[in-house]
Amino acid sequence: MRFDTPYAMTIGGRRVDGGRTFGVRNPATAEIFAEAPDCELAQLDEAVEVARAARSAWRDTSWEQRCRLVRQFASLILDNLDPLKQLLTAEQGKPHGDAEGELRRAVEWLQETATLQLPHIVNAESPTRRSFTRHTPVGVVGAISPWNFPVALSMWKVAPALVAGNTVVLKPSPFTPLTVLRIGELAQEILPAGVLNVISGGDALGPPMTAHPGIDKISFTGSTETGRRVMASAAPTLKRLTLELGGNDAAIVMPDVPVADIAERVFWSAFRNAGQVCIAAKRLYVHADVYDEMAEALSDLARGARVGDGAQPGVQIGPVQNHQQHSRIVDLLEDAKAGGGRFLAGGEALRSPGYFIAPTLVDNPPEDARVVAEEQFGPVLPLIKVSSANDAVERANRSIFGLGASIWTRDLALAQSMAERLEAGSVWINEPPSTSPLAAFGGHKQSGVGVENGLLGLMEYANTQTVVTNELA
Ligand code: NAD
Repeated sequence: MRFDTPYAMTIGGRRVDGGRTFGVRNPATAEIFAEAPDCELAQLDEAVEVARAARSAWRDTSWEQRCRLVRQFASLILDNLDPLKQLLTAEQGKPHGDAEGELRRAVEWLQETATLQLPHIVNAESPTRRSFTRHTPVGVVGAISPWNFPVALSMWKVAPALVAGNTVVLKPSPFTPLTVLRIGELAQEILPAGVLNVISGGDALGPPMTAHPGIDKISFTGSTETGRRVMASAAPTLKRLTLELGGNDAAIVMPDVPVADIAERVFWSAFRNAGQVCIAAKRLYVHADVYDEMAEALSDLARGARVGDGAQPGVQIGPVQNHQQHSRIVDLLEDAKAGGGRFLAGGEALRSPGYFIAPTLVDNPPEDARVVAEEQFGPVLPLIKVSSANDAVERANRSIFGLGASIWTRDLALAQSMAERLEAGSVWINEPPSTSPLAAFGGHKQSGVGVENGLLGLMEYANTQTVVTNELA
């Protein structure tokens, strides 16, 4: 595939320009480096129409054949890894190694989801009467993804939607549309026209998608605030919904840990992808007995981390992805400072035209400081002293969010009992937060509705149908 053509949407298997274009910035320089098509409403209608028209042939394609095509699509992404990686770094900011990692994850998601099967459940069986429940496709899936992992999180939706026999209209974030647009073009070499359509536009494109009567399900990943709007907008047509929303995950460090051994893993739990990870550790609760040792080890790591343009070799932490998010984080840091907060490392934006923030550790701020109570979604981590496991769990649960949590301790029985009490969709014990295409992932409380990944995630892309059959005498 050529990477020097203008960026285009894919509608019904064709390259389509928008009515206008909008600029996409490289967050390491803050400069616009490419133009993306801005989808007109009539083009959204057209994308939905072709997706509806492609439904029956795709649904009638055998499960095995759909999985084969999804795996071929994955291989095509692998074949184009290098140009896609460079493009992803340019628009998202993450270091090249992480961009490659994200693309490989997207490939893994497509491949692994294509090994799953939906169950066929026999409810009753007698010589003359049989009842079974099977799964049928939902129809057209509207997939909306955020800017932190634009490719991987788009494929979290595309993979199960296609495997289960749905057609898709995918809209990446306006901050990071380019790599997903290219992948949409690539897919046309494998998938029948209309099965995967990719459109791009500003935030104004989301609401008509979520309200569109031709879309049967919305799968959305983004902030809790937008998630509420999506839910309201989908209500009049009672769309199926999967919402993967914000998080303010706690990581808990108990006093029996070997600090030197775990510090690096704890550090990257918070600072990978410049902290712009939904399941990043965003509040670190450290037992008082090891607080000072942990604070020192993490401060050394923060000061030693290489921050810079992700396209430069050796860079570990790239810029924050966009100006709005950068301003939000600077605001949180100023609020922490004004409240008397002390920084163990960082504490300010770097002098640069790009959106860089020094990796920041905040020393034991009060629980109601904004930097603790709000999702930072950037390279900032507050360390908070706790007195016991109960104290840590109680503080961790004091949040409207419930996405993930992690626990570090040698006492696995204690960790299990803490996990049971943590109000979070995933709990990791002695490892940094991670996800798998085979394990259900979703948020408790206001971190989401429904799950993605694994069999339970796949089931969200299907209706159930119970069929009861009787023999006539
Ligand atoms: P966002 O909510 O601003 O945007 C997400 C997507 O929604 C974008 O494509 C955007 O264009 C679109 N959108 C905006 N307004 C819309 C509307 N009214 N209707 C429909 N769509 C609309 O989120 P973001 O800033 O791109 O992403 C960061 C947030 O995403 C963080 O809160 C993070 O925790 C969350 N996130 C969650 C998960 C998860 O799996 N739970 C994963 C990654 C990110």
